[in-house]
Amino acid sequence: MAKAARFSQQLSGPLRAVAAEAAGCERCPLYRDATQTVFGEGPSDARIMLVGEQPGDKEDLEGRPFVGPAGRLLDQALAEAGLDRQQAYVTNAVKHFKHQPRGKRRIHKRPDRGEIQACHWWLDQELALVRPSLVIALGATAAQALAGRKVVLSRERGLEVEYPGGLRGMSTVHPSSILRVPDAEARHAAFSALVEDLRTAVRPAQEAPRVTPIPMTAASPRGAARTKAKRGTKAA
Ligand code: SF4
Repeated sequence: MAKAARFSQQLSGPLRAVAAEAAGCERCPLYRDATQTVFGEGPSDARIMLVGEQPGDKEDLEGRPFVGPAGRLLDQALAEAGLDRQQAYVTNAVKHFKHQPRGKRRIHKRPDRGEIQACHWWLDQELALVRPSLVIALGATAAQALAGRKVVLSRERGLEVEYPGGLRGMSTVHPSSILRVPDAEARHAAFSALVEDLRTAVRPAQEAPRVTPIPMTAASPRGAARTKAKRGTKAA
């Protein structure tokens, strides 16, 4: 049975149309075991775009990015860095939840290179439509997807870089990595470091010019043929 797809009410115009198209995406195998495509959300004129790795369990069920525990931590970090989450566009490098069952739980599995590459098709469209002045990669997978090369986060975090396509970018840790720190003091320090990275990047980005990126993915007839509307697809 076709799964009903939902996406954020915040999306409008061309972004909403692309999200509707992505709801039927079958460009890689990840759509098979996930509940739905989790497209990005936020204002189409956002100056800052945040890119995570992939939706988690809660995001998969709700159809919205960063709504689980990591999302709440991100909201808090953004607020402390001086940015309201509602002003940013938030998305993931991969739009379906990759997981493996363990008992009743669904355990996150890192997407592979082919899946990240296939899903760049949608990330490129989000970048082209939002035209952010700064893209913040949350975690190594997102940084590698944007940079198109291996990224050692411990070396690059907090530094301004230029991603292919002329995008101004910066990478920092994914908030879920902070949730996994067992020691409370170390967790607090990791959170403060995330806030510091965001604070350094956010203020200048609000003044910086927008960039129209050159897409990293070329039109692929095969991919396009596998991107089809699912029956029952509708905006929430
Ligand atoms: S390319 Fe992205 S949206 Fe399409 S099936 Fe794969 S993960 Fe899902």
